Amino acid sequence: MDQKLTTYATRTVPRYTSYPTAPHFEAATDGATYAEWLGQLPETTPVSLYLHVPYCRSICRYCGCHTKAAVRDDPVVDYAEVLAAEIDLLARHLKGRRRATHIHWGGGTPSLLPAESLRLVVQHLNAAFDIGPDAEHAMELDPRTVTEDLAARLVEAGINRASLGVQDFTPKVMEAIGRIQPYEVVADAVARLRAVGIEAINFDLMYGLPFQTGDDVERTTRKSAELKPSRIAIFGYAHVPWFKVHQRLIDVSALPGAVERMEQAERARMALEELGYVTVGFDHFAHPDDSMAKAVREGTLKRNFQGYTTDTAPALIGFGASAIGKLPQGYVQNAPDVGGYKRAVLEGGLPIARFKTLSDDDRLRADIIEALMTGFTVDVEEVCGRYGVDPKALDASFDALVELVRDGLATVEGWTVTMKPAGRPFVRIAAAAFDAYLNAEAARHSVAV
Ligand code: SF4
Repeated sequence: MDQKLTTYATRTVPRYTSYPTAPHFEAATDGATYAEWLGQLPETTPVSLYLHVPYCRSICRYCGCHTKAAVRDDPVVDYAEVLAAEIDLLARHLKGRRRATHIHWGGGTPSLLPAESLRLVVQHLNAAFDIGPDAEHAMELDPRTVTEDLAARLVEAGINRASLGVQDFTPKVMEAIGRIQPYEVVADAVARLRAVGIEAINFDLMYGLPFQTGDDVERTTRKSAELKPSRIAIFGYAHVPWFKVHQRLIDVSALPGAVERMEQAERARMALEELGYVTVGFDHFAHPDDSMAKAVREGTLKRNFQGYTTDTAPALIGFGASAIGKLPQGYVQNAPDVGGYKRAVLEGGLPIARFKTLSDDDRLRADIIEALMTGFTVDVEEVCGRYGVDPKALDASFDALVELVRDGLATVEGWTVTMKPAGRPFVRIAAAAFDAYLNAEAARHSVAV
């Protein structure tokens, strides 16, 4: 591989699931600002909801999520009661029982919620929000936990999309990441979900794992596609042991290098395109009949904390420890530690730990970055026009793109920036050129590919 591409692939840049990115949120002393924002949300504004359940039965070595191990159900049952209380608390700050268009349960392993706990939280959701039959209601699942009983409980709760963590089917790789989950386990989980009518199924695959080769990635991708998931995301493993200490169990010497990582991502992309999947941004793929492929065709694709999304609701409300929400006025994040989160809710306060009020400059740059990340092109003059800003104010960002243009990875024509096909894996680097907050801390982000 070209030495230049290797250099780009090892650059550390944010994933831009938000702009400004979470490290730039500010400490909140109380929930007053959030309460004010919620109160200003017009009654007719639809919302999407995110619920975070930070528990798993055991911790996988590669995990980058905000979660902890719960061997017994007690802490999970307890947590569900606090989630229900938080929903009630938040609903009191909103005008009216508004429509929820998307609901996403993430974690952790939200399917660890025992039947009664899941029922309780869903009852509180239904009381606070108008959840129509057309709402997308998704839950992240560990395929090893999908029993017939769980599938039935999910349907009863209204779940109509399941997102399964698949990673890689290669025995040596599964062993190295501490998660043994062969193809048959995933196939059984899919069959159980489909048997109860949950047809929309997403798979999350990974590359860059210890001992993983390009052949492993391609074989896993093709085997996964045999199960006909509606969406497949392929994420690069981010080795950040200073942040996620359990990753110290991963043998660093077994991790693929930058060149191998790029080839692995490329082999997965080529296999999925050959199999008829539509490429969505730089790491998602959708069946042509899926709503995400339609969003790509219609130019309505968005980006949020789950990555690429079809969700166009102007407000995202997060529930649970560490959950992030976004309102038109800015971002809010709940207390990350379960203890602090619970205390705040039980004392009757919104459990906010951090927030970020958006300035006009933030909004302008966020629009540019989202356009690049979703469609690989942006007319900066047009975006600036929406904010009454002279695009010359972004000259420094264009200067930062010179290298990508020189290396044939992007073009700049007038004020329009476009990633060339060869440059698409590096779109985060182009987005970073428009990030006013990025500084020497860059080393704490994951590598570009
Ligand atoms: S099941 Fe998912 S969230 Fe839980 S430890 Fe494993 S990777 Fe992390």
